[in-house]
Amino acid sequence: MAVLELRPAGLYCPAGDFYIDPWGPVDRAVLTHAHADHARRGHARYLAQRDALGVLLARLGPVSIDAVGYGEARTIGGARVSLHPAGHVLGSSQVRVEVDGETWVVTGDYKLDPDPTCIAFEPVRADVLITESTFGLPIYRWSPPDRLFAEIDEWWRGNAAQGRPSVVYAYAFGKAQRILAGVDATIGPIICHGAVEVLNRCYREAGVALPATLAPTGPARAADRAAGAGALVVAPPSAQSTPWLRRFPDASDAFASGWMQLRGARRRRSVDRGFVMSDHADWPGLLRAIEASGATRVYATHGYAASLARYLTDRGLDARTFETREFDAQYSGEQEEPALPGDGGAAVDAGGGAEAGGPPDA
Ligand SMILES: [Zn+2]
Repeated sequence: MAVLELRPAGLYCPAGDFYIDPWGPVDRAVLTHAHADHARRGHARYLAQRDALGVLLARLGPVSIDAVGYGEARTIGGARVSLHPAGHVLGSSQVRVEVDGETWVVTGDYKLDPDPTCIAFEPVRADVLITESTFGLPIYRWSPPDRLFAEIDEWWRGNAAQGRPSVVYAYAFGKAQRILAGVDATIGPIICHGAVEVLNRCYREAGVALPATLAPTGPARAADRAAGAGALVVAPPSAQSTPWLRRFPDASDAFASGWMQLRGARRRRSVDRGFVMSDHADWPGLLRAIEASGATRVYATHGYAASLARYLTDRGLDARTFETREFDAQYSGEQEEPALPGDGGAAVDAGGGAEAGGPPDA
């Protein structure tokens, strides 16, 4: 019997009778993180990492969550389960499942780039690794964060010098806070959309240091005056072209996403600038993580799973894909660019500030 297998409700562990990030309602769900395409309502019991608790409760309502620290093991039926840092967003985890001496690790979404808003990805040894592959093509390579934030600062500084606000669109959960923590907050005031501010609160409560932010709640507030002083405005993609943005009429705008690496992506978003910024591993990061796991069998899910599996197979690994209705580019988290049919996730973001870009999060 396999340690994990695919069932209609998602990835299932027969020995422990639980699911990992299930999409159908189940009795026990182990969650990798609080992005909307991984953490759904309707399960009877949840297990998640402690730092994810605030965001999960804000999004799922009053549900029963067993919150554990990284590396803290739980015995569930015949399985030993523990969570390990995935470096993706606050509280994001890889799930390690050990049954009868065989270890499987489910990465969930992850990145290897340093990010001060969450604990760094930690390689976990596994016999079998189930890895995401949102950006599983060799064209995807991220710049070092220092260079990325220098670029954002330079853009913001230039606009501020002209008294113009700088509006950057980024997913409300994860990417927005990474921008806040990464920019040079001495350049000017920072204004956050309500959907972002809700999550800022969760980060601050979890002990993550973020610069001071203003949240406009009505006309002629401090935030509006700050806009004239060249503020940085952080808003979810769903806020683009909404009345909320009208308070920054002469703003320069930008979009932050891994998909900005694609030719034409900035133009399709109709923004002045595109910053290539992802909370997923790039191609070299995926390969590094897979190698560090020591796994001899790899399942690729999400995004470019077939491409990654083919590459690994050519290099002698036993690599396969998990093809499921939920595991496609449409739902991969940074999910915007491949589809772009009016931003499915917009409603999600506007609603609870979970994550713009709808079901996923990239
Ligand atoms: Zn995610």
